[in-house]
Amino acid sequence: MTITTLFDNNAAWAAQVEAEDPGFFRRLGQQQAPEYLWIGCADSRVPANQIVGLAPGELFVHRNVANLALPTDLNMLSVLQFAVQYLQVRHVIVTGHYGCGGVQAALRRVELGLIDNWLQPLRAIAEANADTLAALDGEAARVNRLCELNVVQQTRNVAATPIVQQAWRAGRALSVHGWIYALSDGRLRDLGCTVDGPEQLEPAQRMQAGA
Ligand code: ZN
Repeated sequence: MTITTLFDNNAAWAAQVEAEDPGFFRRLGQQQAPEYLWIGCADSRVPANQIVGLAPGELFVHRNVANLALPTDLNMLSVLQFAVQYLQVRHVIVTGHYGCGGVQAALRRVELGLIDNWLQPLRAIAEANADTLAALDGEAARVNRLCELNVVQQTRNVAATPIVQQAWRAGRALSVHGWIYALSDGRLRDLGCTVDGPEQLEPAQRMQAGA
């Protein structure tokens, strides 16, 4: 496959979409109104729209290595603010996946360079759950459990942002979900850590309106 194949694929795809739904691109060019923000891993095997069967215009997407939602990440925060404040999404979905290379790298404690800075929060989650992870049999099981623990933590990170808390104070219905995807069967699972309002967060993470 050469790089020009991608343009050929694109032309074929655009023609097919337009044939199935005439005017699709013209309408989409006028506005986007997605109900969902997806925060997922950059892994090529976890293509957001395809997994949940959504068309262009239906899913706002942010992806990075190991689906982190860090309060210091201007990129993630800008996506989150735009999605919540301007696009008025109803759901933010943090989606991890089993066998995540970023999570595995964090557990292995081998120096990789720049990316070690990015993976540091994963090492902190592993440290905080050292007993749980040590009790598991084998590296794959530990990686997969840390993938789940990471999603739960990132879900709470999103819920703790001023962006989400302001939306709740304004009476907006906004849910933050934590899901995980299995490469082995293509299925998503809900990790049951949805946060719908500030009362579901630790007291230290709840903010009052400022002056
Ligand atoms: Zn990954």
